[in-house]
Amino acid sequence: MDRLTVREIDVTGKRVLVRVDFNVPLVGKTGKIADDSRIRATLPTIDYLMDRGARVILCSHLGRPGGKFVKGLSLDGFARRLQEILMQPVAFSRDCIGPEAEKMAAALENGQVLLLENLRFHAEEERNTEPFARSLARLGDIFVNDAFGTSHRSHASIVGITSYLPSVAGLLLEKELRELGSILEAPARPFGVLLGGAKVSDKVGMIDNIMGKVDFIMIGGGMAATFLKAKSYEVGLSLVEDSTETAAKLIAKALNNGVKLQLPDDVVVADKIESGATVETVSIENIPRSKAIVDIGVLTITNFTRRLERCRTVFWNGPMGVYEMGFDEGTNAMARIIASLNAATITGGGSTAEIITEMKLADKITFVSTGGGASLRFLSGETLSGVEVLLDRKTAGRVLQPLTGRGHNGQLGTG
Ligand code: ADP
Ligand code: MG
Repeated sequence: MDRLTVREIDVTGKRVLVRVDFNVPLVGKTGKIADDSRIRATLPTIDYLMDRGARVILCSHLGRPGGKFVKGLSLDGFARRLQEILMQPVAFSRDCIGPEAEKMAAALENGQVLLLENLRFHAEEERNTEPFARSLARLGDIFVNDAFGTSHRSHASIVGITSYLPSVAGLLLEKELRELGSILEAPARPFGVLLGGAKVSDKVGMIDNIMGKVDFIMIGGGMAATFLKAKSYEVGLSLVEDSTETAAKLIAKALNNGVKLQLPDDVVVADKIESGATVETVSIENIPRSKAIVDIGVLTITNFTRRLERCRTVFWNGPMGVYEMGFDEGTNAMARIIASLNAATITGGGSTAEIITEMKLADKITFVSTGGGASLRFLSGETLSGVEVLLDRKTAGRVLQPLTGRGHNGQLGTG
């Protein structure tokens, strides 16, 4: 990676402000953590900093509170969960900026941890205002971005803050970029990509960017309907994006690149996209006008499986059906197949990661990216705004000089 990481700077005794992504799935509106994988994914960085006697200050967003306090989106309970995981006390500040946060940050001793309240309780976080970024920066001597899943957003705690503190990558961010980067650089072939989820528009950039490296693209989920429609199939009430033009272009591009783009051969259809709706499996030539696609069919599962078994690299993003409403057979089957492959397997996407965790398959997948939108942006070949602003390894030599004060113009002390 061309950005400096936390490993390359001296952190002992420093107040290190770490932007993490604790935006985990919750149980309804209770504020209870449904899946703490994203919290656990940041442990390498937190442990690293604690071991070296840094004073660790963690900040994150959770959900979309819209710039005001929302009880169910407080990170209060997260401090307790983190305390159990780290087996040491974690202090909690009820505001992410201001006198209380500053006092608590200043009182930290080497190796201690403080968690700040939800950044998005301030509208200025998403608006990326200078005063807010400066207030956050007052809490630390060094900034570490370990929030891969939010790194495509130009928010104050991702981008703005780097104007005020020497800023480096955390270990999770580094790992995400390395693992996802490996599929763009030199994937072992054959390389297969399995895509699902709702919208084609979310994934076009990525499909376009990997076209020259991939051998098979398999498309299920809601987005398959747009592709089927582009090939003039009747898709009934299925979710279709306004324009089938993009899908048609991708089909043509695949053909030109010698990439096998495989659509479902059969699908599960329902009268309504609703739990408990009556379903039937039909071939794609026979989709009734009055029904919607909710999952891939058994024949498709078999055909996708056959392709996947030939691959040495597989990237999977997006469920094969409306799994939340019980139309989950295709998704579950694909998850099990991918977990059983003797190949480098990488998955991206929020729903996809949730499914893998729920099925307890995460340790059978080479890498489960914690990023949804961020992983797709990165695979589209875009530079993530939160990564771009971190100290560059090539030019950092100039700022890597002995520490004479702290936080001076983004200069980085090596201690
Ligand atoms: P990820 O979060 O893993 O990136 P996406 O956000 O792209 O995945 O897609 C997840 C959504 O796609 C789910 O809410 C799921 O219900 C929806 N979806 C999957 N298949 C269909 C379908 N056939 N019709 C409508 N929605 C679908
Ligand atoms: Mg999603």
